[in-house]
Formats: sequence, structure tokens, C-alpha cells
Amino acid sequence: MNYQRIVVLTGAGISAESGIKTFRDSNGLWNDHTIEDVATPQGFERCPQLVYDFYNARRKQLLSADVSPNLAHFALANIEKMIGNGLLLVTQNVDNLHERAGSKNVRHMHGVLQRARCIVSGKAINITGDFDQKLDCTCCYPSNRMRPDIVWFGEIPHYMDEIAEAISNCDLFVSIGTSGNVYPAAGFVALANRAGAHSVELNLEPSSGTNQFAQHHYGLASVIVPRFFNTITN
Ligand code: NAD
Repeated sequence: MNYQRIVVLTGAGISAESGIKTFRDSNGLWNDHTIEDVATPQGFERCPQLVYDFYNARRKQLLSADVSPNLAHFALANIEKMIGNGLLLVTQNVDNLHERAGSKNVRHMHGVLQRARCIVSGKAINITGDFDQKLDCTCCYPSNRMRPDIVWFGEIPHYMDEIAEAISNCDLFVSIGTSGNVYPAAGFVALANRAGAHSVELNLEPSSGTNQFAQHHYGLASVIVPRFFNTITN
């Protein structure tokens, strides 16, 4: 393989064929809710129960038999097996499909569904079932409320320093299944280009930033992702 330091960015499109809806497929709504209501700190202040219910439903969906990793998730796990720490997988997704496919070096920049976080200390715990404001944290005295460990619009994504460093040093940057509308992820390709990396977009259709990529393949992630990685490893 010609590349030694690869950064892959994934978005909701890689999980679309696994039974999890994207934003774009639903006219900017996330499972029939506005982003303002379920993905902002203000929405949580306004109506916490709606937000708990929304993420409880998304978390429960991960346990359903209809949701499982697809060939694109498996292709990325295989690449990691081949090159180990030479691949950093950065995902905007809050689902657990990369891990279920076998990927280990994953950074969930927007958090994960299966974690709850103390609203004061920021300490997170794993959680697979439902929870709401009745769940107390065990890290503070007196204890505080827990919230979904999801990065909402207006909040700072996780791992930004590590991600920026990896992109600034990568020789291949691949963006998969993301519309290029949500920053800072949408700005990663510019950083990769400045670093001299080869940049590739794999998406169902051209994204907002498609012109910034040196190479593009449009189609279903389950088809174009394994095909692309086959071509660079053979
Ligand atoms: P997005 O919904 O804005 O865009 C998804 C992109 O994927 C679109 O460009 C679409 O054309 C493409 N796409 C759809 N089906 C595809 C397929 N089968 N193969 C390849 N591409 C396909 O998603 P985004 O850019 O990730 O940004 C939205 C935000 O939504 C993220 O911050 C993320 O946290 C959140 N979100 C996450 C999930 C999840 O965890 N699975 C689901 C919905 C939204």
C-alpha cells in the first residue's frame, strides 16, 4: 500500500444501509424532530424529557435485530487490521457500528449513544438502557443530573487536538457518507489538503465540499468503500 498514515472521517451515510437514518434523508430532521429541539443545549433546557426520550429511542434502536454493521464498516475494520495505528477512524456518528464491525482506533467526535455524562463534572458512564433526569451521577456530592454523552450543536467536539494533529500528518484523507454541512468536520479536507495528503470523497452524491477532494466515488457506501480500499491495498 502507498499510504502509511490514513485518516478516515465517517458520517451518517455510512450507517444508512445499516438501518439508521441520516439527516439529509429526512429533510434536515432527525427522526422527525428538529435539530433545535433534540440536538442543542437550549433544546435540552427547554424540554429535557423530550431529549431523554429521543436518545433513549436511538439507543434502543442499536439493540434491534434490524441494525448491524454493513460492508463499509467491515472494510474499515479490515484496513485497521492491516495497518494498525496507521489508521485513525474519526466518526461523527453516535452509533456503535464501527466497533461492532471490529474497529478499535475510533474517535467519536460527537459522542456516543451508549454513554451518559454528568452535567457538572463531565464524567461519563456506559449505559445500554433508558435513562432520564432521575438518574443521579455518582461522581459528585450532592449528586447531579446525567445527560446523553452527545455533542450538540454549539458545543465543542471531542478529541479535536488529536484529530487536527493526525490530519496534519496524514498522507491519505478519506471522507465517507457525510454531507459536509456540519463544522468542524466539514473543514477537515482543507486541513488535509494543506498537509499535502491525497483526499478522497466516498458518498452517495457530491457533498457541499466535493470540489475540495482530489478524487471522488459516488454510490452506496457498502459498495464503494470496500472497492476503494481494495484498490489501494492491491
Ligand atoms: P448528514 O445526514 O448530514 O449527511 C449524510 C450524507 O450521507 C449525505 O451526503 C448523503 O448523501 C450520504 N449518504 C446517504 N446514504 C448513503 C449511503 N448508503 N452510502 C453513502 N453515502 C450515503 O450526516 P453527517 O454529515 O454525518 O452530519 C450530520 C450529523 O448527524 C452528525 O453530526 C452526526 O452526529 C449526526 N447523526 C448521526 C447518525 C448516526 O450516528 N448514525 C445518524 C444521523 C445523524
